[in-house]
Amino acid sequence: MKKIILLGATGSIGIQTADIIREHPEEFSLVGLSAGKNMEKTRELIQEFQPEIVCVQLAEDAQQLQKEFKGILFVHGNRGLIDASTYEADVLVNAVIGSVGLEPTLEAIKLGRTIAIANKETLVTAGHLVMQSAKKYGADILPVDSEHSALFQALNGEKLEQASRLILTASGGSFRDKTRDELADVTVEDALNHPNWSMGSKITIDSATMLNKGLEVIEAHVLFDFAYDDIDVLLHRESIIHSLVEFQDTSVMAQLGTPDMRVPIQYALSYPDRLPRPTAKRLDLAEIAQLNFRAMDYERFRALKLAFDAGREGGTMTTVLNAANEQAVAMFLNRQIGFLQIEEFIERAMLAHQTIASPDLETILAADSETRKTVENMLK
Ligand code: NDP
Ligand code: MG
Repeated sequence: MKKIILLGATGSIGIQTADIIREHPEEFSLVGLSAGKNMEKTRELIQEFQPEIVCVQLAEDAQQLQKEFKGILFVHGNRGLIDASTYEADVLVNAVIGSVGLEPTLEAIKLGRTIAIANKETLVTAGHLVMQSAKKYGADILPVDSEHSALFQALNGEKLEQASRLILTASGGSFRDKTRDELADVTVEDALNHPNWSMGSKITIDSATMLNKGLEVIEAHVLFDFAYDDIDVLLHRESIIHSLVEFQDTSVMAQLGTPDMRVPIQYALSYPDRLPRPTAKRLDLAEIAQLNFRAMDYERFRALKLAFDAGREGGTMTTVLNAANEQAVAMFLNRQIGFLQIEEFIERAMLAHQTIASPDLETILAADSETRKTVENMLK
């Protein structure tokens, strides 16, 4: 029985992780969870799973829940997120959104916990700290993001140095068939309408700008230690091939499946085993009949180019890319800026930043908060 702590339990990945835990009561038990502000969903999860520790964002919500559920430990805020992530367990599933997930991850790694990581912002903002620390404390970092789970599976049992190229597939997001001119006045509602995946709103916007793929390129660099020149992105509108690895003998290994995040979530929980999924839709390639591929256009998807630039620059520049994007996406969702201003603000934040190489945690947190302020001020 694996004891699981689930950060971001009320989100899209969190709810699907709860589905997997529910499907395998003999394998997994949910001993702790964190939520933000969705108290209705939090109550449902508490009633169903009876965890030992629960973290919510606000102190008043924690106090209220403590009155309702006597035997459970309630904590709150960023400190509470660390308390929850370091609570006695086997696996920490990090499915919060944004760089708020960084410190809880680093603290859990110090305890040697296995980390199933969906929270890609943590790997983009401070990937080197996460990986160095994981090595030092012997913690496994298992990808939940579908592309990285695919790469991880394709690399299973292989020698990393004999792999020559990582190929990440991209569905193209809500606006894949629009020209740049047509993007000028798209709305929040248009952007939130993803053709293949149902996800949280921030990552859905990231998919529309293609910055999500940019964050994933950096995530792949961090997880598998490939140079940026050896990471490619391929447009594949059906989201059936989740990513591919090319080896030095030109063989290419891919992982395929219907677009369902519960598959990579479950693999991260069950690794190195595989568990059945009797209720899931199986892949029927004859029914799909055709898969399409197109080379990536870096002029059209400018945000992806910015992510490669930030990754190659390294140091604090990926922190700046991520923080500028988090701030700009929040402003777009609040209808304060237009869609194309997201990448414009990211680019301006990057231009304004003096990179610091090999930053420590304090330097990263400072660059993150400074960048958010810089981007906020771009409105004035
Ligand atoms: P959601 O927005 O659906 O969920 C985010 C979760 O984090 C919620 O539980 C939310 O709480 C909580 N949360 C938000 N802000 C804070 C905060 N400041 N402090 C503590 N908790 C907070 O996101 P997704 O599930 O879509 O994405 C989660 C992560 O997984 C992201 O990094 C994303 O890039 C990655 N990912 C997601 C995929 C998907 O299919 N959704 C696919 C691959 C990767 P509440 O709602 O209660 O306020
Ligand atoms: Mg992905």
